[in-house]
Amino acid sequence: MGLPLAEIFEEFSDLDREDQSKYLLELGDDLPLFPPALRTEANRVYGCQSQVWLSADVSGHGDNAVIRILADSDSNIVRGLIAILQSAYDGMTASEILSYDIQAVFRQLNLQQHISPQRRNGLRGMVERIQLLARKHAVSFELSAEESASVAGAVLPLCPAPRFDVLQIRRQFPVLNRPLGDGRFPVYLDSGASSQKPACVIEKEREVEEQYYANAHRGTYQFGVRIDEEFESARELTANFLGARSADEIVFTAGTTAGLNLIAFGWALPRLRPGDEILTTVMEHHANFVPWQQVAIRTGARLKLIPLTSDGRLDASAFDSVFTEKVRLVAVTAMSNMLGTINPIREIARRCRQINACLVVDGAQSVPHLPANVAADEVDFLVFSGHKIYGPTGVGVVYGRQSRLEEMEPVMFGGHMISEVTTERSVWSRPPAKFEAGTMPIVQVIGLGAAIRWLQQLGLAAVHQHEEQLTRLLFDGLREIPGLRIFGPAPEHRGAIVSFRIDGVHPEDLAALLDSHGVFTRHGHHCTMPLHAHLGIAGSTRVSFGVYNTADDVQAFLKALNQARQQLQ
Ligand code: PMP
Repeated sequence: MGLPLAEIFEEFSDLDREDQSKYLLELGDDLPLFPPALRTEANRVYGCQSQVWLSADVSGHGDNAVIRILADSDSNIVRGLIAILQSAYDGMTASEILSYDIQAVFRQLNLQQHISPQRRNGLRGMVERIQLLARKHAVSFELSAEESASVAGAVLPLCPAPRFDVLQIRRQFPVLNRPLGDGRFPVYLDSGASSQKPACVIEKEREVEEQYYANAHRGTYQFGVRIDEEFESARELTANFLGARSADEIVFTAGTTAGLNLIAFGWALPRLRPGDEILTTVMEHHANFVPWQQVAIRTGARLKLIPLTSDGRLDASAFDSVFTEKVRLVAVTAMSNMLGTINPIREIARRCRQINACLVVDGAQSVPHLPANVAADEVDFLVFSGHKIYGPTGVGVVYGRQSRLEEMEPVMFGGHMISEVTTERSVWSRPPAKFEAGTMPIVQVIGLGAAIRWLQQLGLAAVHQHEEQLTRLLFDGLREIPGLRIFGPAPEHRGAIVSFRIDGVHPEDLAALLDSHGVFTRHGHHCTMPLHAHLGIAGSTRVSFGVYNTADDVQAFLKALNQARQQLQ
């Protein structure tokens, strides 16, 4: 198929950047026809700005199956890259593909030097899809559930997932492996407030600071070029992770709160009028409640709530009456930070489309724990924070559907977000730059990219499964404690968060005693005062899990809880 690799090596390696592009265009022209029936969502490879579809013709079985790569793109240069991949992998079996050093080919072609960071990500995405297809056919590899889903059609994670081994994962978190003053190791059960960071994220931040730190989108010197590559590669990774259609739909912010305020004041405030309605819920974090309350006060719009069931879920039987034509915006959390409830975002998105309302999803709690797919779910905006997803503080993400980002006004003005400034007026850059005024949290953005890549390797389906087991274990233990009330639904409707109260025990006293056992939990209103008022309580104790928590953590917590309860009751 195509030119032999040796011929490509000979012709390509010495060309300068411009001639390499021309050569790639020529290779792309000769790409074999990609069957139109294979241009499906399942075969899409994300990571590149152009569209790419990749599939394979397989003859034979197991490790000896010969895999013929079929791929196509709407970009001719990417078609040229596909031609190189086809020549490189030509005639290989599944196991040969898996052991083949494709990076050596790219090095020999001097390819990495000459293609943009976006194309490099796209190329990596294609290689990883090819390896995944090979793994699917090689008998000596077993696919995880998440990988099978990827091959079957979901968005491809950039890295193949290893087995979920919680002890091996926990070892990657330095802070969890340092003994406390009394020699015990911390039992960290407050990941809902902020998660700990794995060594690879800490190392990545250190690498940036020590090796090539510079401002982003400013310098064309070597550090500047490297920083831009790393920064934009984090954007690509994030887009891929969320299932966005393009990296341009990813805006970096300071966190969820900053992101929600941007949407409230950049999209909603200029649009809403008296009589319009904002639909939200009483279970929202203040970050997804107060900005809408402010928009309502300032525009004359009405804030309306979707009722809850007695077990703390959205009452679907009320949807017909609350999703009405007057609703212009729906702001809802994908997962409650107090009740743990997982909300039916796909159904809410469907309702929003029927009434032409804009859907804003607070993903602060869901994105670290549950697979997201913004394009498939058809949400307009999804917001989350870096520090809850094993990444740094001071950084967050707004995913915005491209048309919504075009509509939204910037709320921060200054450098980088403009394309032209005169003494009279300014013209904005296109999104995402339009919303990224001033110097960004550069190291944190790159650290967030490392965290996302790391989490993708674990596979969110496996993460969710692990955390669900912990939640059930915790539930079983808590149910045996007299006078203990758990808030929110049964484990099958919730993520890795459980809040509760014990009769006669003040949550603050309990937290202090748990702390004395090295068990770290959160207490108080968890920035959900309307919800606590709705439940008729002033505060609660909250346990929230991360990927590193173990069944031993749950047992240590239950033991400490029982001792504390006996002391306090
Ligand atoms: N929404 C939810 C559901 C949250 O749990 C949090 C953090 N507790 C936020 C929003 C606010 O996130 P941040 O403080 O990172 O802006």
